[in-house]
Amino acid sequence: MLLQIRPPAPKEADLNTVYDAIIVGSGAAGGMASHALTSHGLNVLLLEAGRKLDIESELKSMEWPYDHPRRGDMPRDSHAVTLNEYTVRQPPYAKDTQYKHVYSYVQGWTGSDYSKNIVVDEKDNPYTGTKYAWVRARLLGGKTAIWGRLALRLSDYDFKGKTRDGYGEDWPISYADIAPYYDKVDLYLGVAGHKENLPWLPDSLFQRTTRLNPSEVMLRQSLKKMNRVLTPYRAGVTTDGLKHNKYRSKCYGRGACNRRAGGCDIHAAFDSPTGLIYPAMDTGHLTLRTNSTAYEVTVDPATGKARGVAFVDSVTGKQYEAKGKAVVLAASTLESARLLLLSKSKAHPNGIGNSSGHVGHNFCEHVMGPSILGRVKDLVGKPRTLDDGRPGGFYIPRYRNLDDRQPKFLRGYGFEGGGGTGMVPGRAFSTPGFGADFKKTVRDEAGAFIHMGGFGEVLSRYESSVSIDPDVKDRWGIPVLKFNYSFGDNEKQMALDMAATGKEMFEAAGIEVIHSDADILTEGWSIHELGTARMGGDPKTSVLNQFQQSHDVKNLFVVDGSSHVSASCQNPTWTIMALAWRSCDHLADELGKGNL
Ligand SMILES: Cc1cc2nc3c(=O)[nH]c(=O)nc-3n(C[C@H](O)[C@H](O)[C@H](O)COP(=O)(O)OP(=O)(O)OC[C@H]3O[C@@H](n4cnc5c(N)ncnc54)[C@H](O)[C@@H]3O)c2cc1C
Ligand code: SF4
Repeated sequence: MLLQIRPPAPKEADLNTVYDAIIVGSGAAGGMASHALTSHGLNVLLLEAGRKLDIESELKSMEWPYDHPRRGDMPRDSHAVTLNEYTVRQPPYAKDTQYKHVYSYVQGWTGSDYSKNIVVDEKDNPYTGTKYAWVRARLLGGKTAIWGRLALRLSDYDFKGKTRDGYGEDWPISYADIAPYYDKVDLYLGVAGHKENLPWLPDSLFQRTTRLNPSEVMLRQSLKKMNRVLTPYRAGVTTDGLKHNKYRSKCYGRGACNRRAGGCDIHAAFDSPTGLIYPAMDTGHLTLRTNSTAYEVTVDPATGKARGVAFVDSVTGKQYEAKGKAVVLAASTLESARLLLLSKSKAHPNGIGNSSGHVGHNFCEHVMGPSILGRVKDLVGKPRTLDDGRPGGFYIPRYRNLDDRQPKFLRGYGFEGGGGTGMVPGRAFSTPGFGADFKKTVRDEAGAFIHMGGFGEVLSRYESSVSIDPDVKDRWGIPVLKFNYSFGDNEKQMALDMAATGKEMFEAAGIEVIHSDADILTEGWSIHELGTARMGGDPKTSVLNQFQQSHDVKNLFVVDGSSHVSASCQNPTWTIMALAWRSCDHLADELGKGNL
């Protein structure tokens, strides 16, 4: 049994002090800002809307289904919004419900009882507008408590997308600017993977990779002939251990990663509290205040600069203001946009940092849906192996619009997938028959299945946006977001191609296709929200400069995915953290020079 190191005791927040910086949000972005700023010796206050959960006793990663009264499911008075509901209904999804608690679709996965305190209750946190499957986690660490851990880099194929195909805007940075920070993130947090030397998916400084199982090796070998790559899951997990971090253990390959919503209670998988925040608290420079829901960036009327952050205590409802020389928003892409838009003042009548009118716009993410399930006949009846004792299966990087030019869509997509034996043979539910024959079929086939699903770049469009809905308020009386967003033709054409090439790859490898799906899932399904306060060189068409610093308000920074100029098709979290680290180095430098 691993000895868990207790988190450091939090210091009391001093609201009479002017902190060097106030950070809003403690997920990947806020955690990294806490680490980077405190490592410069700055005196930092971190405000987090959610509570600090005793995460080890929430996740209970090694509890068997039969040791739980409902085999891991949440109580019957709780409901997860289904795909059908997202398809036919408009938000707010918890309106007029008979259920006591309503959650986003991820609570429809197995083991939902273990994540019910991690994801938000839609009743307390409504939103309006076009349909959108918005997954949020309000607790210390945000969504990193249950993230899927796929840790990928972006490349100049992404940063210079406009130069390559003429669409959208280039980022104000190139790969060379961010590469040293990707390296720092890799070394500080740990990432497992295998080098492939692909210019469009740069390698990280990898720790020991996880192993592919026989069906995955079969597909990898076949893909080589098609000039495509299947690589072991690049997991934001430390497989070799991290000597500098006492709160995290190396991965024991216990296979708990994929059995539930996610989460690793020995913290081999990166999460923001153990990876970033507790070590930052240990420096003595970080004050953490949980249960602190920010609702406005306050402004010094004399200078127009940010003065601090107004927040409501999430439990008592009392309102406070914390003051800082700099304000760093890291509340997640959509919540940071909401805060900017809510912060209206004489100096900033359209919301702080919004003289361009671009806050809330250029929203983008990943399109999901097309997926494929196959069976490898040669593996039927073979002895079962511990295939899910690892943090992930495989990743197939983008292969479209690299040297080729697809006639029907711009940009690209990749696939996440896995094969082999899992703890519960999920196919049992759709295997026909009963009795001894049924059991034999289920056992024989348990290790023979392989599946994968696509993640494609959604183009950033000005009209894809969120705004404040003044008529609907959340539990704390704060006006909510209204969505104006849907997939366009590029995403639909891309999804058709995903479905076709997914099938093509399985068939070429001799894998029997059992099921393939070409339908697109509801907007938001990818949980990779990006854009809404994009970086750029021109203050008329962008919100932030290349250091995620507001063009309008020089002591205001927004260090989460809202700054991304385009979505790429690679998962965003490693890039969010590399950029946040780079920007916070710049912030500390500028503060030191008296420029903020
Ligand atoms: C199930 C799941 C699987 C995922 N898989 C992957 C993956 O494989 N790879 C990948 O790259 N990404 C993945 N993601 C996405 C990843 O979790 C996010 O990209 C990442 O957490 C974003 O970091 P963030 O700091 O911007 O936001 P968050 O992690 O959401 O943190 C934001 C924090 O801000 C707090 N906050 C919000 N509003 C306020 C306010 N007004 N005042 C104070 N605090 C506030 C929230 O409570 C939260 O703690 C996954 C997410 C989920 C849920
Ligand atoms: S497989 Fe590794 S990373 Fe995943 S839950 Fe187990 S120990 Fe944690």
